[in-house]
Amino acid sequence: MNPILFIVGARGAGKTTVGKRLANELSYTFIDTDHHIQQISNMTIADIVNQQGWQQFRQLESKVLQQVSQSNRVISTGGGIILSAENRQYMRQNGTVIYLQASADILAERLMQQPESTQRPSLTGKSIVEEMEEVLTARENLYCECADHIINAQLSPEKIIACVKEMILPRRIS
Ligand code: ADP
Ligand code: MG
Repeated sequence: MNPILFIVGARGAGKTTVGKRLANELSYTFIDTDHHIQQISNMTIADIVNQQGWQQFRQLESKVLQQVSQSNRVISTGGGIILSAENRQYMRQNGTVIYLQASADILAERLMQQPESTQRPSLTGKSIVEEMEEVLTARENLYCECADHIINAQLSPEKIIACVKEMILPRRIS
């Protein structure tokens, strides 16, 4: 079976940007779990969370993760997908997990440049840098635990894609 590539990392790490281009280069189908959730529910993530709460959203996210996991796919996941032990185990058992690792400063810088309408609701009500520091403190171990490969998210998308290809493609014996 061809591998499924799961891309994990915090908001702003580049999961969607890199995932889309990687899928294109590998001729895989690209799926973004956040985007998929918004499509099937016909609501934004912010609206789902505001109306139904984080717990409902997380349940939906876990269900969607398993529904979209088919071979020949690059699956960019939501930043909190690794919070669930079941999701972590599922991704490790069913594919190759790539963690795009970035510091809180870098993540915050990128998120602040995005339009308000595309931003996810604040988890804590604090500044974006503080929030990303807290998020990473709580989640870094989980991202690392889940990952088969860790890649520096500050590299250019081209370099990240080259790294992933190097990691997943069978090595040629010369
Ligand atoms: P995620 O899906 O992980 O939340 P995005 O792919 O939406 O992250 O990227 C967040 C922002 O960072 C976007 O504005 C994107 O253009 C930018 N970005 C993504 N990857 C890189 C990269 N490798 N280098 C510089 N900027 C990047
Ligand atoms: Mg994304």
